[in-house]
Amino acid sequence: MHPPLYAEAQTRDAALASAPYAMFVCTADGRFEAVNPAFEKLTGYAAEELLSRRDLESLHDPAELGKRRAEWPQLSAITSRYEGEWNFVRRNATSVRIVLALAPLVDDPAQRSPRTSGAARYVGIAIDMTRYAQSEARLWYLAHHDGITRLPNQTLFTERLELTIARCQRGGSGFTVLIAELDHLRKLRDALGLHAAELVLQIVGERLRGLFPNDGTIASIGGTQFALLINETGAAADAFAAEALERIAESIDCAGTALNITASIGMVAYPADGNDAPTLMRRAGVALSAASGVSGNAVRRFSTALEGRAARRFELATLLRDALERQQLHLVYQPQVTLSNGRIAQVEALLRWNHPQRGLISPVEFVPVAEESGLIERIGEWVIRTACRDAGKLLRLTGHLPRIAVNVSPQQFQRHDLFETIRDALEQAALDPSYLEVEITEGVLLGDTDQALQTLHALRDLGVEVAVDDFGTGYSSLAYLTRFPLNRLKIDRSFVMRMSTDPQCAALVGAIIAMAHALKLRVTAEGVETAEQAAQLEALGCDEAQGFWFSRPITAAALRNLLRPLGAS
Ligand code: C2E
Ligand code: MG
Ligand code: MG
Repeated sequence: MHPPLYAEAQTRDAALASAPYAMFVCTADGRFEAVNPAFEKLTGYAAEELLSRRDLESLHDPAELGKRRAEWPQLSAITSRYEGEWNFVRRNATSVRIVLALAPLVDDPAQRSPRTSGAARYVGIAIDMTRYAQSEARLWYLAHHDGITRLPNQTLFTERLELTIARCQRGGSGFTVLIAELDHLRKLRDALGLHAAELVLQIVGERLRGLFPNDGTIASIGGTQFALLINETGAAADAFAAEALERIAESIDCAGTALNITASIGMVAYPADGNDAPTLMRRAGVALSAASGVSGNAVRRFSTALEGRAARRFELATLLRDALERQQLHLVYQPQVTLSNGRIAQVEALLRWNHPQRGLISPVEFVPVAEESGLIERIGEWVIRTACRDAGKLLRLTGHLPRIAVNVSPQQFQRHDLFETIRDALEQAALDPSYLEVEITEGVLLGDTDQALQTLHALRDLGVEVAVDDFGTGYSSLAYLTRFPLNRLKIDRSFVMRMSTDPQCAALVGAIIAMAHALKLRVTAEGVETAEQAAQLEALGCDEAQGFWFSRPITAAALRNLLRPLGAS
């Protein structure tokens, strides 16, 4: 053999040997000149059984080649590339589906030589389609299933939902879609770590799957949510949802710790609530928000009223974005009175939104919207700075000042700079930190507690006081009262309202006060509207009271007059 050609053949064979695909080089009449190990593996023939002994055609399934002869090209007629799908027969007589790609060897010295015209070489690649199909199936699986729970994912769920809709359209039947979301999973992840949260998702997924003996679809969608499609409708679907909640609520053993997980479920019925997949999924989401809005562990069916509420919330969020710049927000102040001497112990800053067209919008309505949309961070900072500035002014004008209490949302506590913001606001207003109190909700104490705890300690060290607002409405765990650096408990208005008619409720309020005092916390009762309530609270040992009986929330100017009556110096 010609030395240069030999050298080139050597490089070529080395390249072939390392190729991950089954490859060969053959002459124009199909005789094999070189094959690689992957080709040996694919065909089952050893190299020496192929080289110069067999040709490409001999590997074809003869029956197929007989039928498709016209499709099989003359190799010498291939000028750039040929690709086709064929069956090869392996050495052990089994057949394998392959895609065969053939191309003339570019720069082949044999081809360049005029004396060897017609003896050109071709390089071929044979791709095993059965293996390809397997990896295709695997790719499909990965693209359609959730990595943690191994349940179908959103994509597959939507496909199945669409199929079910098409089937029901023909058959005239109905079905129900449920979206279940685990309550407080983020808090759980913060407290116990990612691994525990994933374990919980897997266990809950398994339990929900157990509710479907034969048919129906369950999927993992969007991280902490499950979507379920059931053939039941009406009362049967309600019963299914209730059972799902019960199954989820069964205690989970997580490395020796018993976890009690709850979920919220939103439900939609086909065709009553929508007749296409996007509408059904969106409305199930609306129902879910309503369910988790009622402190979780609840089921809500979709209704157009809910959708109206969701639309209004969305609209409010849009309007709220501009409210600060357009100076539509202001603060009012409501005194909290020491029951034993009638003096104003502190005042609570309460946010007001006066929209030029819509009038006054209640914080009960827009604060949750601000919290959901993240706007509360900016608005909350404005509240802190404004309250400190107003307090600073009041102090300079009147020479004395009750403590100012500011409501701070759990979302604000998730920021690392909350402490800095408060300290800066106090400095800017030249206000001693002891004039400020933050009112937090139980949500702060349940959230990312490390961050919150750190901020609360820093605030206490600075001299700022801390109160727990609306005590008794949420989790009401006594354990956290000892863990957090608190000064005061505010008993929720709902207890005060029921107290005069319900002796048990009065006993409960008495117990809360006694317990708070034992923990060296002062107690303020919220929503005191009558003299009778005020007297009853004083008798129970309550320290302070806030409510319309004493004063409605008033403007900063009115507060100034209250602290220093007009005409007084
Ligand atoms: P909250 O902090 O528990 O505030 C007490 C609410 O009870 C106030 O409602 C107050 O006007 C009302 N109230 C006081 N006394 C009485 C009474 O005798 N009877 C009745 N029926 N109600 C009384 P408001 O101002 O509508 O605020 C509602 C909630 O909005 C607040 O509850 C608080 O959770 C939130 N909020 C208000 N301002 C802010 C703020 O600046 N930041 C944050 N994050 N939340 C705020
Ligand atoms: Mg409050
Ligand atoms: Mg309150």
